[in-house]
Amino acid sequence: MQAQRLRNIGAYLFADLDRKQEELQRRGVDVINLGVGDPDIATPAHIVRAMEEGARDPQTHRYPPYRGTAEFRRAAAAWFERRFDVALDPDREVLALIGSKEGLAHLPWAVLNPGEVALVPDPGYPVYRSATIMAEGEPVALPLRAEHGFLPDLNAIPPETLRRARILFLNYPNNPTGAVADLGFFARAVDFCRRHGLLLVHDNAYSEIAYDGYRPPSVLQVPGAREVAIELHSLSKSYNMTGWRIGFAAGNAEAVGALGTLKTNVDSGVFVAVQRAGVAALTGPQDVLAPTLAIYQARRDRMVAALRAVGWNPPVPRATLYIWMPVPDGTTSAAFCADVLERTGVVLTPGTGYGQMGEGFVRLSLTTPDARIDEAMARIRRAYG
Ligand SMILES: *Cc1c(COP(=O)(O)O)cnc(C)c1O
Repeated sequence: MQAQRLRNIGAYLFADLDRKQEELQRRGVDVINLGVGDPDIATPAHIVRAMEEGARDPQTHRYPPYRGTAEFRRAAAAWFERRFDVALDPDREVLALIGSKEGLAHLPWAVLNPGEVALVPDPGYPVYRSATIMAEGEPVALPLRAEHGFLPDLNAIPPETLRRARILFLNYPNNPTGAVADLGFFARAVDFCRRHGLLLVHDNAYSEIAYDGYRPPSVLQVPGAREVAIELHSLSKSYNMTGWRIGFAAGNAEAVGALGTLKTNVDSGVFVAVQRAGVAALTGPQDVLAPTLAIYQARRDRMVAALRAVGWNPPVPRATLYIWMPVPDGTTSAAFCADVLERTGVVLTPGTGYGQMGEGFVRLSLTTPDARIDEAMARIRRAYG
């Protein structure tokens, strides 16, 4: 039994690869997965301590406030002001989320009418598209091309599509391409959304995961952005908290309010002890980030060097946990991933898992322990060098 809207989302694109991986493991191959983007480094100790203390306090054992505790929303607003120099009203412009994925998945339900269009980046994080379909909206792919730095060409959107469009999803630093956007691009996107009556939904899950001193901006730094934009933030990647499920939405009060109202009908918020851990993360020492970033950056550099040594051509990402590499000429994403898996036991993600425009690319993630990355690169060198 499966509803049509679920069927409309389509087949799980990695099913083939999963099957192959299982088959190799059955044959006793030591498979190394460079596909998943899930930090392998522990959550900082002061955050875990806040959770421990919170869990022991019976006051946290009851239903949390729907929009998040006042303390968490204030901590998020204070972090936002320190980080981006943007002041938010913690009551009207901040909403706690069960991870940013939850907010992204529910937002179309809250703001989109059936048949209305959401513009979704392609390649892109699959949730923008699937959430739009679940809300009975129509996802329209916004191609991200290498020659445009993986930024969409907003002026190329057909006028009849634009007339029906209500949401523009953006995500920079970008998963899967590793591309970044500057404030100038965000200013143009805000202006575009204002002119065409769109809600700009910016997924900023990687705002803190950047290298070589680069500091990604927030779309809310654009003057007047909060009139048209909502930005989703995650503690998952910044503080190695993917399993904890906490993030927040910030910006446009009407969209934040609509999402909050929708959520009162769906969930009952984030465990207050987890919110206290979130407060510890957002208000505690921010220098816990530096050692994690140093590890990712070193992995990035080792992987890029190893891949280039076999004649492949990965770019060096300035942000995110991913290397978005063109596949060698004459092959496809899926065929290349299958060949690499067969010959080395290393799992890469085919770009087509993120949309049609991902054809010709594979994604490698930086979230595997160093020794396993080195082993994976050694196998690739032996097989392809
Ligand atoms: C990891 C990721 C998320 C989800 O983060 P959670 O806060 O853990 O739900 C959202 N968007 C992108 C692009 C991601 O890569």
